[in-house]
Parts: sequence; structure tokens; C-alpha cells
Amino acid sequence: MDDMDDLQDLKARRAAVLLAHNYQPDEVQDAADHVGDSFELSLLASRTEAEVIVFCGVHFMAEAAVLLSPEKVVLLPDLEAGCPLAESATPADVRSLRAAHPGAAVVSYVNTTAAVKAESDVCVTSANAVEVVSALPQDEIIFLPDANLGRHIAERTGKRVITTGGHCPAHRAVTVKDVERARAETPGAVVMVHPEVPPEVAARADLVLGTGGMVRQARERPAKEFVIGTEAGMLYRLRKENPGKSFHLLSPALWCPDMKKTTLDKVTEALRDLSPRVVVPPEVAGPARRALERMLELTGGGS
Ligand code: SF4
Repeated sequence: MDDMDDLQDLKARRAAVLLAHNYQPDEVQDAADHVGDSFELSLLASRTEAEVIVFCGVHFMAEAAVLLSPEKVVLLPDLEAGCPLAESATPADVRSLRAAHPGAAVVSYVNTTAAVKAESDVCVTSANAVEVVSALPQDEIIFLPDANLGRHIAERTGKRVITTGGHCPAHRAVTVKDVERARAETPGAVVMVHPEVPPEVAARADLVLGTGGMVRQARERPAKEFVIGTEAGMLYRLRKENPGKSFHLLSPALWCPDMKKTTLDKVTEALRDLSPRVVVPPEVAGPARRALERMLELTGGGS
């Protein structure tokens, strides 16, 4: 029996589902039952019949799955897989910004810890941030933690957006030169970037989208060539789903070491030991879940 048989066998015995983020290593995506963005996967987690969820991603994503599926066992194959962006904002940051801007709505990106979500009025994903913020009655918004996404929201909604100044190290490293090089090397290609890239890069792209939007655009657009400005793992899925099209990475800096901490061995061990398990204390889980549910109400149910 090879490793994959071991894993599939364990998965069946544990009544488990394997969810992998779009940025996960190729072999983890291949082994997964579903591949998607963090919020799509959390919604899938809440709807599955499976008793055990193996979340192949980073810590805040597994926490979001726990919030939406509190009765299930959620495993993160490597507990060290964190997100520097999510970890850059703390509940104390939210409290001090609220005190300084008492009339503002607190909007937290899904890339935050459960403790930060618990202090927030509503959550957003990169796909629905503009829609959710537009629907809020407040004109002043405290948005955390990503400064580039905050700027994108301010431009699209016309609202005053205050951020904590966080960045994703991978997306932040993309430059205007990368776009110029891509335009010169692949004339006519559609350049799609994630809103976590710097605003001067986003301004030169054809489309600014979350990963779910990139998947749809790659499938539906007649174009045959795309330049992708998000984490490198995304290209594996795009190439697999669109064999007649070509995809180029905008910059080699688009690499997240935390996303690459998952291995099939760690997935197998997690299923065998039912560990490491991610838990969220009830006093945090209640208010954090309300912030996620408010997002669902404002968007009609999904991202
Ligand atoms: S790609 Fe950036 S935002 Fe995503 S998990 Fe890695 S550090 Fe966090």
C-alpha cells in the first residue's frame, strides 16, 4: 500500500474530509476533496457530513472552519503554519482604534485571528470586501489588517478607511517592474492580481481579484494567456483546470513559506492521531462567529 492509499484509507475510517487552500503544494491539492479559497472552504466545512476536517492551509483558516462548524474536529496538519498578516493585528489594536474613532465600523479581513474577529462588527473576504463595506451605514471604517486591501476598499467605496498597516509579505513584494516585464514578455496576456499587492501594481493590472475570482476569469475568458499576481500555488490549479491555456507567475516573490508547511506525511499523521486539533474558546467563538454571520447577511450568503 502506498502513502496515498494509507491516507485515503485513514480518511475513510475517520469519516474525514480533506480541504486544501489554493496556495497549498501540488500533491496536497491532488489529495484533497476540495480546493478553494479560505472562506469557500470554511463554508464547505460547515455543510459537510464529515466528522473530521483536515484543513490544509494556515491557522486562521482552520479557526474560521471551527467557528462555522463548532461541533466538528478541525485538524491543521502543521500547527506552525501561521499567517504573518493575520498575526500582525491584535484585539488590543482593535480596542484602541475603536476608542480613537468611536463612530467607525470595525471590519476585519478573514485573514485575522478569531480573537480579532471577536472584536469586529463584520468580516470580509477579498472577494466581497467592497460589497460589504458599501452596505454598511458608516462612512468611517476601521479595516484590519491589510493596508493594500484597505486602500482598494477606500478607492472603490469612497469611504474613509483607517488600517493597522499590515501586509502579506509575499504579495507586498510585487513591483511595477514585474508588471512591465510581464507586459513585455507576454503581450496580450490578461494580468490578474490579488488586492493584497501594492496599489501601484494593482493600478497597472487588468483585473484585481481574490483567488476564487481568478479561477472564474481563467475559465470564462476567451484569452489563452494569463499572468497571475498571487501566491505561486494558484498556478497549479489554474493549469490543471484549463489545459489549453498558459499561466505565468507575475513575480518569484509570490511564495508563502507557511502555505508550504503542509506535507502528505503530516496530513496522514494528523488523521492517524486526530492531532493537532484547532480549538477556539467559547467566549471568543461566539462574537467571532457573529462577525462572520453578519458578512453572510450582507452578501446574501457567500463570498
Ligand atoms: S500568502 Fe500572505 S496572506 Fe496568505 S497565508 Fe501567506 S502570508 Fe498570509
